[in-house]
Amino acid sequence: MLLGARDFYVQIGSDMSDEIRFGTRAVHAGEQEGDGAKGHWGHALTVPIAQTSTYVFEDMQAVDDFVAGRSARLDYGRYGNPTQHIAEKKLAALEGAEAAILFASGMAAVTTTLLGMLRSGQHAVIMDDCYRKTAQFCNMVLKKFDIGTTFVHAGDYDQLQRAIQENTRIIVSESPTNPHLNVVDLDAIVALAKQNRLKVVIDSTFATPLNQRPLEFGVDLVIHSATKYLGGHNDLMAGVVLGDEPLVSAIKDYRGILGGVLDPHCAYLLIRGLKTFPLRMARQNESAFAMARFLETHPKIKQVYYPGLASHPHHEIACAQMTGFGGVVSFEVDTDLDGTMRFLDGLRLPCIGASFGGVESIVSHPSTISYYELDREDRIAIGIADELVRYSVGVEDAEDLIADLEHALAVI
Ligand SMILES: *Cc1c(COP(=O)(O)O)cnc(C)c1O
Repeated sequence: MLLGARDFYVQIGSDMSDEIRFGTRAVHAGEQEGDGAKGHWGHALTVPIAQTSTYVFEDMQAVDDFVAGRSARLDYGRYGNPTQHIAEKKLAALEGAEAAILFASGMAAVTTTLLGMLRSGQHAVIMDDCYRKTAQFCNMVLKKFDIGTTFVHAGDYDQLQRAIQENTRIIVSESPTNPHLNVVDLDAIVALAKQNRLKVVIDSTFATPLNQRPLEFGVDLVIHSATKYLGGHNDLMAGVVLGDEPLVSAIKDYRGILGGVLDPHCAYLLIRGLKTFPLRMARQNESAFAMARFLETHPKIKQVYYPGLASHPHHEIACAQMTGFGGVVSFEVDTDLDGTMRFLDGLRLPCIGASFGGVESIVSHPSTISYYELDREDRIAIGIADELVRYSVGVEDAEDLIADLEHALAVI
């Protein structure tokens, strides 16, 4: 059972037992605190967009009550807005978290969390195949404030243990990672963290709360770039941090200072996207798995990286801690750089671009799109081969996507 289920029942006034399912939460959770029918604001079925920057007071007594903490209400948009609060409640219900806070982007969520949790002289251990900008944030920003970071190879728990220092406070990891879809053993990381009294932060963007719920493993905070599957339509940018109330609330104070809050209109788009998130994700899981199986047997494919395949180095961990393997398939084409370019240009359905997780399939060439600032040798040393392709499977028919792949592979 997910945490927060009881809250949800109380909200919808149900006396059913704790069993409320994921798809139902995606549609209804968080929407019951208004004044109208079944808690809908102004009787509106869909959530209204509270498009305002400020919230006004009846009189000076109301101001006084607010500043003295005698009334709970909003005052200014940077500290939150009602549409955003509904999106946060919905996300918390999906992740099984006590609390959630939304940010203007995934990177705003990552940077605000790390700045909030670490101070000068402290240290964090991070997996080496983390999101490029997260690594740059450590190397360029945290370093300026004398906050150290050690990068360790995802999956090497001895190296992780050795990297822990006296001043280490947190372990940060993604799972699965980008673009090789390495899966870290959450039980192993949490056990190490407990021994050393560290907090664990997992960027679970690639997994989503449908496929993996790190809080159930004892992880302290989960981060998602909601730009990807949660929004799901390649039309918004958002990030979310989820966990227990005290920790999330401490990070919320930093959000108020650093300013990366989600705007009301975007919160509405996110709520709209979340309603169909379980449907989209289930289909993307299924289509990506079918694509991975097709690619694995194709003579022009050298290597496929998909945690659902028995050939993936972390397949067993993935089966133990995930219920689906996601909508991204990475693979190496058995050709050279030119051949890979011809293959990418030969695909007729997916567009070439960064990002993933939306309804439209997107294909990306990590060595030119995400790792262009590294020298070729450095790229290859971290496994970013010239022939590596990352395919984000949308909600098109899998048969069409696979036929398109077959056609593009025939031309190289
Ligand atoms: C995209 C992404 C981010 C950054 O999110 P934005 O919404 O683009 O700022 C962080 N982590 C992972 C794993 C991502 O895929």
